Amino acid sequence: MLTQDEIKEIFLKADAFLEGHFLLSSGLHSPYYLQCAKVLQYPQYAEVLCRELANRIKELKVDFDLVIAPAIGGIIVSYETARHLKVRGIFAERVNGKLTLRRGFEIGKGERAVVVEDVITTGKSTRETIEVVKENGGEVVAVGSLVDRSGGKVNFEVPFTTLWRLEVPVYEPEKCPLCKEGKIELVKPGSRDIPIK
Ligand SMILES: [Zn+2]
Repeated sequence: MLTQDEIKEIFLKADAFLEGHFLLSSGLHSPYYLQCAKVLQYPQYAEVLCRELANRIKELKVDFDLVIAPAIGGIIVSYETARHLKVRGIFAERVNGKLTLRRGFEIGKGERAVVVEDVITTGKSTRETIEVVKENGGEVVAVGSLVDRSGGKVNFEVPFTTLWRLEVPVYEPEKCPLCKEGKIELVKPGSRDIPIK
């Protein structure tokens, strides 16, 4: 079993997790920046992480028939985790804002699903994916994510497993301790060599 430090190391190697002083798209400041897509772009890391997630799901000792994730962030996680679990992996996508099964994906009546995610922040898309399974006559037996940055606040009423519990503090610019300290320049993720004046 990989430790949280080993998981973090993989994200660091892929530049998917950065430590510093970041301006988030929300306008808030944070000492961390996390972008799962950056680690999943490397098949060898996606394989290691999703094999680990598959192992954790097996440890939950629940029976299941498929894995499902919300698009777009969850597509690779669904595929790669399903590959290790030797079940099928599908995804739900938004149509007019509502998560839906498309592309001929079906969930048979009574089929048991594990919902997987790259990152859980508020748990909203996870809960919506659970609803998709139910609406299609299936049952959700577990939830798994690579990262849980909810601060332990999520509860899906089924067993939940995650590889990395990460607290990501966010600050209003005027209350940001990093700005006050003035030691680390504020950067916008994705353009981290360009300090923001
Ligand atoms: Zn700041």
